[in-house]
Amino acid sequence: MLAIAGGTPVRQRPFPKWPIHDESDAQAVADVIRSGFWGLGGQNVAEIEKRFAAFQDASYGVATSNGTSSLWLALTALGVGPGDEVIIPAYTFIATAAAVLQTGAVPVMADIDPDTYCLDPDAAEAAITPRTACIIPVHVAGHPADLDRFVDIAQRHKLALLEDACQAHGTQWKGRGVGAYGDLGTFSFQSSKNLSCGEGGMILSNNELLADMCLAYRNCGRWEGSSGTRRVLGYNLRMTEMQAALLLSQMKRLEEQTRLRNENALYLAEKLSEIEGIRPLKRDERTTRHAYHLFIFRFDSEVWGVSHDVFLEALAAEGIPCSRGYVPLYRDPTFIPYGRSCPAAWPGIGDHLAKIDYQQMFLPVTEKASSEAVWLTQSMLLGTKQDMDDIVTAVAKLWEGREQLVGRRPTRRMGYAGLA
Ligand SMILES: *Cc1c(COP(=O)(O)O)cnc(C)c1O
Repeated sequence: MLAIAGGTPVRQRPFPKWPIHDESDAQAVADVIRSGFWGLGGQNVAEIEKRFAAFQDASYGVATSNGTSSLWLALTALGVGPGDEVIIPAYTFIATAAAVLQTGAVPVMADIDPDTYCLDPDAAEAAITPRTACIIPVHVAGHPADLDRFVDIAQRHKLALLEDACQAHGTQWKGRGVGAYGDLGTFSFQSSKNLSCGEGGMILSNNELLADMCLAYRNCGRWEGSSGTRRVLGYNLRMTEMQAALLLSQMKRLEEQTRLRNENALYLAEKLSEIEGIRPLKRDERTTRHAYHLFIFRFDSEVWGVSHDVFLEALAAEGIPCSRGYVPLYRDPTFIPYGRSCPAAWPGIGDHLAKIDYQQMFLPVTEKASSEAVWLTQSMLLGTKQDMDDIVTAVAKLWEGREQLVGRRPTRRMGYAGLA
């Protein structure tokens, strides 16, 4: 009997916990505290900038307070502002759109590729208007967007290219780290990410001038080395020495963890594909290393005769934590006109946003993704082969026992934040 119907779950043991840490991490932070250099004057921030940029094959790194501020900072350094449009995928975290709005520009959402859930290059190119200033492909789940196409589109149309690589630590496209294929690339070190210090972020680039501008906007508008003269309207988005020391310590595990995620994910994808109505996302062969921030597979509700929500609930009941993932971003409450704090009511930008009319949007592939996706988190991929087999066994058990799920109604919605 299926666990959701009162049977014994396939699994009662937890998957690996995240974050992974030991005494050496605590020591690294304690050393900073004892040194007295908690912010400016320490060496850890400069060191993680150098080390992480090198890890992703970029020339310059600018450490920041988090991924969202990195996106805002990068857009600002690229000169994006009021009157501009920025093309983003409709399948991403709210921060990708929020950062655009916070510069005074308007996010224009385009559809995604059905096999990778990353921004579809053709859809993005079709969305270009005379107002377009920048394209932000998001490396969803750690799978790289088609960087060959996006670099070419950006060059032909003379647009800025900003990679949202907040889920793509360690991801490589054709043997080279992502994050500096575009003019700038942003990373997050928030607690769920593959490299974390609780909160934190980084911008990468191969362009020295752009990197210097990011440094200035991060540091209250001061150009580095200019004895503190303000030249731009900056923010304070600096990373602390404690954050940087923890990242340096955590980074020692990143290479091996990434290798293990790749090994387990490839095995899991192969085994799950053998089950009817289950299709893991494809891995573009130009992806030489995948961060697998998430492992995503597609559930075919019609083949199973079972609703998406019921499947998710039944899988969680078998002891496999899972979630449904993003809903189309144009349905996010941010875009519902509701009052003065809503961007739609702001002078200048409001009219522009009203023309886009997010409530009327319907992007078919994004809609489909939100009704078929099953997300497993990256830390599950740090388990053993037996852990992967348990996931496969649970899905196969649900397939065999699907009669018990037909006609069942979901008792709760497995939102992406509400992991079971
Ligand atoms: C996590 C994430 C962000 C935001 O990063 P924070 O550090 O949480 O601000 C932005 N974009 C994507 C795609 C993310 O996954």
